[in-house]
Amino acid sequence: MDPSVNKKIIDGNSIARSILQNLVQEIAKFKPLQPGLTFIRAGNDPPSVFYVNRKQKVAAEIGIRSAVHLFEEKVSERQLLQTIDKCNNDPSTNGILVQMPLPPHLNQQFILNSIHPHKDVDGFNAVNLGKLCKEDDSGFIPCTPAGIFELLKASNVKVEGAHIVILGRSLIVGKPLALLLCQNKPSANATVTLCHSKTHGLESILKSADIIVAAIGKALFLKGNMVKDNVVVIDVGITRVNDPAHPKGYSILGDVDFNQVIQHASKITPVPGGVGPMTITMLMKNTFQAFKNQLSLKS
Ligand code: NAP
Repeated sequence: MDPSVNKKIIDGNSIARSILQNLVQEIAKFKPLQPGLTFIRAGNDPPSVFYVNRKQKVAAEIGIRSAVHLFEEKVSERQLLQTIDKCNNDPSTNGILVQMPLPPHLNQQFILNSIHPHKDVDGFNAVNLGKLCKEDDSGFIPCTPAGIFELLKASNVKVEGAHIVILGRSLIVGKPLALLLCQNKPSANATVTLCHSKTHGLESILKSADIIVAAIGKALFLKGNMVKDNVVVIDVGITRVNDPAHPKGYSILGDVDFNQVIQHASKITPVPGGVGPMTITMLMKNTFQAFKNQLSLKS
């Protein structure tokens, strides 16, 4: 690849690796104690199976114990709540992650709110989201927004004063990211425009963005002619498309038409290898934080 193009790429794998290496050392200082992370997965949605396996693998690599509770697709809310309750009361579990999406008959918010806020390492419990809203740093920040924030920081992208356009207002990416970026702190202080499918005038909004975060789940949506020169682009999207030429039979595409947008961008994340590794890394960071918090509560 042309070295000038290469310089524009924000390498999420490498940034994640350096955070994980640091975590390995920090976690080792507590031996023989180890942080514990429990996953709860319902059904056999292939991406969910993949993500839980991947998160368990990274946890094992850095010294975090993990366990999984598996349920059938038709699991009742009561069964899940009972398991969460057990995990809430189990001192060997420091963090609990309910893998999304849950089967549609389950009330997602109700289940997420049943996780004890001290063990809510995914940060989706109403208490932790409330703390984010109130700029109270004692809560857990959802992993993908936290990962994006770290990517921007590690790439020396100036957030303060920037106009950041976020495409997508979901509870796991867009909304918490908007809250994080507009916090009244020197590391944040951005002017955020949060867009969704009903936004009018998206083209002119995008053209005025210094930073664009695309999180809509529509492959190759953002084109080169939709951005201004020197924009920073963070691509959160993950869409699987059939690809017989690929050994796995599918390819992963982001929300950004990378080959077009990189011509205009000053920095850009690839898919894969951008936001994805950071999401997992932030989960590990939150789990270690939960472990330390719970140890200090005991002493
Ligand atoms: P989601 O819950 O489906 O939300 C999509 C959002 O995009 C909605 O707010 C929707 O608007 C908005 N949207 C859809 N089409 C739009 C358009 N044409 N213009 C503007 N906004 C539009 O998705 P999500 O869970 O946030 O995930 C988004 C993508 O990120 C997916 O591909 C997902 O796989 C990926 N993801 C990646 C990571 C990672 O670690 N890399 C983590 C989480 C998610 P309405 O609200 O009006 O419907």
